[in-house]
Amino acid sequence: MERVADVPAHLESNRDPSDFALTNKTLVCCYVCRLIKSRNQFHEAGCDNCKNLFGPSISFEDYTTPNFSGMISVMDPKASWAGKWLHLGRYVPGCYAMAVNDDVPDDLQDILENKGIKVRHG
Ligand SMILES: [Zn+2]
Repeated sequence: MERVADVPAHLESNRDPSDFALTNKTLVCCYVCRLIKSRNQFHEAGCDNCKNLFGPSISFEDYTTPNFSGMISVMDPKASWAGKWLHLGRYVPGCYAMAVNDDVPDDLQDILENKGIKVRHG
């Protein structure tokens, strides 16, 4: 059974829908794979795609940013055209940012370079 990333703001489902702006502020996306979840979800479970990349010493604060635009939910990243377009084929189904608007922080850049990973921002 394939794992599926938590739906963003799932834990805040009891919140008034008119509070979307507030809920939205708590959403962050992973610099590496662009998975979007709430800060709580990253705090509790890390990034579903990059868990093994970041050891326990790296906080989600170091590899996520609230500064992204667009959101797309992909149920079958291997098959959907959007998944292919965003290069999500290797990732778990979930919600992804269309673009990350922040530069990768230097510390994170160092970690990724050490592991030979290039981050692609679309
Ligand atoms: Zn990730």
